[in-house]
Amino acid sequence: MATHDSPNINETLLQKILESVDGLKKDQELLASKFDLYQAQNNEELKKLQEKLDPATHTSKTTIITSKVVENEIQPKAGPVPSISSTGEPIYSDRVILTTYPDQFGIKPISLKWGELEPITRGPIVASRHPKSIKIRNAIGAYGGSYCVYRALAVAMRALDPNHQPDFKNTEPSVKIGPHPQWGSPDKIVSLDPFGHLTTTCFANQISQGIDIRPTIAITKAHMKLAEIENHVKEGKLKVDGKVVLDGGELNVVKAAVEPVWFLPGVAARFGIDEGLLRRALFEDTGGMYPELITRPDLKVFLPPIGGLSVYIFGNPKNVSDPSKKLTVRVHDECNGSDVFGSDICTCRPYLIFGMEECLKEAQNGGSGVIVYFRKEGRALGEVTKYLVYNARKRSAEGDTADNYFLRTEIVAGVKDMRFQALMPDVLHWLGITKIDRMMSMSNMKYEAIVGSGIAIHERVPIPDELIPSDSRGGRVPSKEDLSKVKGREWDDIQH
Ligand SMILES: [Zn+2]
Repeated sequence: MATHDSPNINETLLQKILESVDGLKKDQELLASKFDLYQAQNNEELKKLQEKLDPATHTSKTTIITSKVVENEIQPKAGPVPSISSTGEPIYSDRVILTTYPDQFGIKPISLKWGELEPITRGPIVASRHPKSIKIRNAIGAYGGSYCVYRALAVAMRALDPNHQPDFKNTEPSVKIGPHPQWGSPDKIVSLDPFGHLTTTCFANQISQGIDIRPTIAITKAHMKLAEIENHVKEGKLKVDGKVVLDGGELNVVKAAVEPVWFLPGVAARFGIDEGLLRRALFEDTGGMYPELITRPDLKVFLPPIGGLSVYIFGNPKNVSDPSKKLTVRVHDECNGSDVFGSDICTCRPYLIFGMEECLKEAQNGGSGVIVYFRKEGRALGEVTKYLVYNARKRSAEGDTADNYFLRTEIVAGVKDMRFQALMPDVLHWLGITKIDRMMSMSNMKYEAIVGSGIAIHERVPIPDELIPSDSRGGRVPSKEDLSKVKGREWDDIQH
């Protein structure tokens, strides 16, 4: 009977292990060369690597992936591809274009010169895979931010024609914003399209030719009502002026919705990182959603699938960019639990409302006020992470002290905060802001990002003590000693 000590068995085993290692090594080499291809930054390098990997694909210059496997995945086994209309046309062609390459036959992106002040010279942002747009597309990603996923669902349900061309009649902005000199600077604005609200007028020609170009910004007028502000009007703390604050505490507002449009070299420069690394990270950590981040180094613009921002302007919008008029600003990052549902664990909603009231007062005094609301829930870690951290805090042996909060967040999420305010000032430059008289925030990150981008801040205004909920920590930057004294509710209390 063979034992573990038998030299023959050991030799056979060793041989097998060596064979496996050799196999692994070959796999690794193949993988590594594929990674090299991903990282290739210029066409020549890309061509050479393509030849090395798959000469057939390269010379044929056809769609990169048209394999049977992929076709089988999209075609139901029984019957033809379901049609969207009575004409029997399939929703998609039976060839899946997984990615494109710069030197591929027919690929000719529309010229796009980021940072040009003249919109025609700058060129439209074309991100669509619409049949008339796919070959001339000059941006990676899809219109609509994260909502592109719902659009996909609507198409799959045959509720939406994938080639639907929107009718933009009468959708133009209700007030004029810009152009401002900042729009012509390639590094002042890198995370939104400054012409995003002017798309339908600036690029009407291209749209009429059937190219799918969509606005990424919309501007409208509205009335709004908030319980706290209504009460303050009743109590006489805020006066009705008939222009900004109307009878009954209704507010007059101009608002803009902004979807993210990233100029990748500019975004990379803003964070001081390499563009290739940024592209690679965006590719990997979106589950490989956008292969063109890797294969199309010639396309510099990316529409990321993330939430955008809203701008609320109180007072005359023209005053916002007028340096002779006073301006109050609050830049607020989403906190759904507090902002909408009144959770008192933080100062988010109280600070937002306080900021808004100060904006209203500035507008009533002949200046204007701006609230910018970013969809960056839970320090851009998301609400699931936020609630996980809440639980970890409440169950912590040391108790739920505020200094523990950052540590708990870091333990769960790996980082304390992912808001990285570096891109935040872009919207202020889009509005033509050159100075802020009253900044309704004590955040050093926000302050440094804004001042570092060339906008002066004359005064920083903290939230008044009486507005701080008892369960939340101070609105100012407290010392470590202060923080260790601030204690949240016990676990039992939060259940109610
Ligand atoms: Zn909050």
